[in-house]
Amino acid sequence: MTAERVLAGLDPDQRRAVTAPAGPVCILAGAGTGKTRAITHRIAYRTLKGEISPRHILAVTFTARAAAEMRARLTALGAGRVQARTFHAAALRQVRYFAPRLLEGRAMPELVESKGRLVALAAAHHGLRVDRTGARDLAAELEWAKSSLVEPGEYVVAAAKALREPPYEAAKVAEVFAAYEALKRRQGVIDFEDMLRAAVWGIEEHPDVAEQVRSQYRHFVVDEYQDVNPLQQRLLDTWLGGRDDITVVGDASQTIYSFTGATSAYLVDFPRQRRDAVVVRLVRDYRSTPQVVGLANAVIKQARGAEAKLRLELIGQRAPGAEPDLKIFPDEPAEAVAVARRCRELIAAGTPASEIAVLFRTNAQSEAYEKALAELEVPYVVRGAERFFERTEVRQAMIALRSAVRSTPGETPLVQAVVEALSATGWVRDKPPPGGAQREQWEALAALVALAEDYARSPDLLPLGQAGAIQHDLSLSAFCEELARRAEQQHAPTVEGVTLASLHSAKGLEWDAVFLVGLAEGTLPTTYAKTPEQLEEERRLLYVGVTRARQWLWLSYGQSRSPGGRARRPCRFLPQLGPTRTGLEKASVAGGSRKPVNRRSTVVSCRICGATLMAGADRKLGRCPTCPSDLDEELYQRLLEWRAATAAEQKVPAYVVFTD
Ligand code: ATP
Ligand code: MG
Repeated sequence: MTAERVLAGLDPDQRRAVTAPAGPVCILAGAGTGKTRAITHRIAYRTLKGEISPRHILAVTFTARAAAEMRARLTALGAGRVQARTFHAAALRQVRYFAPRLLEGRAMPELVESKGRLVALAAAHHGLRVDRTGARDLAAELEWAKSSLVEPGEYVVAAAKALREPPYEAAKVAEVFAAYEALKRRQGVIDFEDMLRAAVWGIEEHPDVAEQVRSQYRHFVVDEYQDVNPLQQRLLDTWLGGRDDITVVGDASQTIYSFTGATSAYLVDFPRQRRDAVVVRLVRDYRSTPQVVGLANAVIKQARGAEAKLRLELIGQRAPGAEPDLKIFPDEPAEAVAVARRCRELIAAGTPASEIAVLFRTNAQSEAYEKALAELEVPYVVRGAERFFERTEVRQAMIALRSAVRSTPGETPLVQAVVEALSATGWVRDKPPPGGAQREQWEALAALVALAEDYARSPDLLPLGQAGAIQHDLSLSAFCEELARRAEQQHAPTVEGVTLASLHSAKGLEWDAVFLVGLAEGTLPTTYAKTPEQLEEERRLLYVGVTRARQWLWLSYGQSRSPGGRARRPCRFLPQLGPTRTGLEKASVAGGSRKPVNRRSTVVSCRICGATLMAGADRKLGRCPTCPSDLDEELYQRLLEWRAATAAEQKVPAYVVFTD
């Protein structure tokens, strides 16, 4: 790969960002416009030009999956040695590396897996008995406070100023907050926010640490910058130490974590704060069909808030595809069954299961879809790790792993150690049970082993200054910390299958087919969203969901939650959508001329496989004349091969256009 080749797959605006000289660069753009592509290409371009060594670059983002995605894209561009991590992972590595020096030989405090239990204990100290939901709400409130750099003594005023709606009286929350901090100190444990604070403290209070870290990291890149919180920003500023070689990219319309303290203000203010910044705005959407782009524009058009001023309408670049489906079902189970059937049809027609996602507002919605997919034997993966990390066998396995750390300290091949610890609980690696619940339990533990294998393969950290290399820590104890981090951040290991995920965890990702389900008042927007700001965040969530789809988009809701239940109104953001073809007017065909596509074109989609049908196809049936279900075996195989080949060449989408 040469630097020039890196520029080849970019449009002129993306190139401007990629080739900008060292210094602040800010890309403000909507979903699917190639922000992540631009930053990975910028990193590759600069390293290939010899402007900066890969080991001096730190790329950060917010979820492990997004970091993995960034690493994969960098590797494909020949820049695989660049560190791309989540804020948490980057901070954890730094803290672990310097711990022996800063703690003078004392053991590093253990990371608490979940705040809930400690928060409930802290609440009990103050005579407040909370159930699981209460503990979760309190823990979320403390996470907001800590991420917003608010101390217990400042909580009451800060919460009022931020228009928070604390789960209990603010003064009570402040007391619980203080008790929680004291409890952690007594138990010698830290939480995730403490770890970020420790990374800041290590640098701010220790000039030698500051010098070493800053000589290592010279260029910073932040993806999804609209979701940075004040604590993470403080860490970023600390890493920078007054320098300005930083590239940030984000979309204020995709801020969906403000309930945890995230704010798009840093992104929006970036050009003002750094007047010499190269600012790039991108509007061409390369991800989705014009139909999906049109819908996304319609969803976000009505949004209010500071970011609205900055928003530019997206212009779809891909060939037209199927119209998004908007479906209404009598109840949620009926909705789930219909979604599962459609998934099965798409898979039968050649869409890989891993290219399909069912996205919902709350994890509790997952269950109906798990059941419906399982009944049709469609493979699926639940992302959003409550399911995975809260499984009894996974929790027990994690306890077994931690006790193995205590009983056999010292160096381990890691994977073997994990297998041995799990075997001690009765798990037999070579004997998967034939089916049922036991098989599921076996699979969950096999997924833990696969995670250990992945972890052992991930690249070493690069040399730090003159002081030698930080080795990727392959000890069982480091792996346990990694698991704790994942459990906290809800990253279950990936398996091939239809993705079931919350809208929050889908950020930055894309699939060929996306089902947005449960679009009813009370679910999206959630009943908890009351203030105008909270409702705006719900709208942004819908926008994030819509923009995940490359090819097919399905929007649906069940009128009641259960059969015969009370009817709900459709999501308030839906009726404003209008005709979903608006995007077509501005569309141009990928790789072709900018000729506008006639909005009255005869494009329809096949009901069976979703393929685009032009004039001449059997419109009455809305079905391909040669849909796989009607093909003989040989033709079907040829169709699948053709699709795979066009997809591999990254031409226009791998669908079939029949013109008679
Ligand atoms: P999000 O806001 O959802 O994070 P994004 O702006 O980061 O989106 P990318 O994920 O970088 O967008 O790009 C969206 C899709 O468009 C990807 O599949 C990417 O490969 C493709 N893409 C981006 N730019 C181009 C381009 N110039 N030519 C062809 N494809 C492109
Ligand atoms: Mg992105």
